Amino acid sequence: MAKSSASRPKRASTARASKKSAAQRVLKWRLEKGGGVAPPSFRRAKRLDPTAVSADSRVERRSPGGSDLVVQKFTGTGDAAATTTVTSGSGKRLRNVVVNLIFWGDAWQRTPAPNPSLAQVVNDAANILAGPYQLRVSQYGATPARLGTVFVSVPGNNPPTNYKTSDVANLITASIEGGALPEPDEEASDVLHLVFMPPGTNAPPNLGGLHTYANYSDYDFPFDIDINDRSHIAWVAFGNRAFISSVFSHEVVEALTDPEGDGIQVNPTNANNWNEIGDVCATTGNVNGVTVQSYWSQTDQACVIPADIPLEMEITCVHKTPRNDPYHPIRQVGGINRTQNIAFRISQADCIRSIDRGNHFFVTAPNGTRADVRVHIHFPPWSLQGTRYISTNPDNTRADNLLSLPEC
Ligand SMILES: [Zn+2]
Repeated sequence: MAKSSASRPKRASTARASKKSAAQRVLKWRLEKGGGVAPPSFRRAKRLDPTAVSADSRVERRSPGGSDLVVQKFTGTGDAAATTTVTSGSGKRLRNVVVNLIFWGDAWQRTPAPNPSLAQVVNDAANILAGPYQLRVSQYGATPARLGTVFVSVPGNNPPTNYKTSDVANLITASIEGGALPEPDEEASDVLHLVFMPPGTNAPPNLGGLHTYANYSDYDFPFDIDINDRSHIAWVAFGNRAFISSVFSHEVVEALTDPEGDGIQVNPTNANNWNEIGDVCATTGNVNGVTVQSYWSQTDQACVIPADIPLEMEITCVHKTPRNDPYHPIRQVGGINRTQNIAFRISQADCIRSIDRGNHFFVTAPNGTRADVRVHIHFPPWSLQGTRYISTNPDNTRADNLLSLPEC
């Protein structure tokens, strides 16, 4: 809960200082806040649902060379059925949250570096947070998280070989005591403290990661009795690179939507062993070269991974009248979006914009071969800047596959 500074009594600063010096300092800064990582940018949710329209023409234009946002849906082994439902509790969701990446243990900084290295794990986590992966959490009242600060533990501070979640909670609490991490009620925004466990340690049985919260008891009594002083924490077990990044992705979307067990749970809910949006999905996929795990999207009634991928668009008809008059352009093209298996019918201008974004349009010839549809330009007398048009063949002395397609 945010407090206004005006209504809040000043702390006893001397007592505070002695508390800090007495506490063991267990974490240190590794990088500046957001150091070296471009800030994430997210498109407005209104425009994010390509499955809601019959074509990609209403998807926001991206920079040249990009492609369209596709919410990939999965129905593989371990992925929840389309009939799955969620319970939307009245509890907290995380909004505008930053994720602190905390590397616990000397093994992360050893030479030679572990595989994956600390830098590789940071790179993958930053990539996941900056990309489109989290976008489907918005339907649950959460907002995508962004990268906070990267910490490493001070030399000699190592987790037990067979660690428990309480060990991670104690690390976070000790770090707050020591002043490396802010107290929950002093955080500028919601924070998720996510701890990467080092090689050579063992997670509790059957767990690859976990997120929860810890109550933080503050000693500023009587000024600071606040039941909302909860730190949101998670840990990810050590494993290979794909394992770590997929567990990271799983814990992030669950912590956002059900940080305290009373937010979004998948039915049947479980008060002790939270049944959450990552727990009912198993398929992993690749977003910007990083392995992530799918999560349940009620809107899509499927396990999903939002990703920017080029669409495969097969054109099967064109609208052009009269067909043989070269002065009348193709007005529209229609066909099947093979990536999402939906029909489309769009104007030539929208088709050109879609090709500019990196999507692939093609025509299947009668002999079964594919001819790529490309954007060309010609300079009629009335257009000094040229007119862009689509064709399978830039040379209009030869047959264009598009013009041999039936009328839409
Ligand atoms: Zn989970």
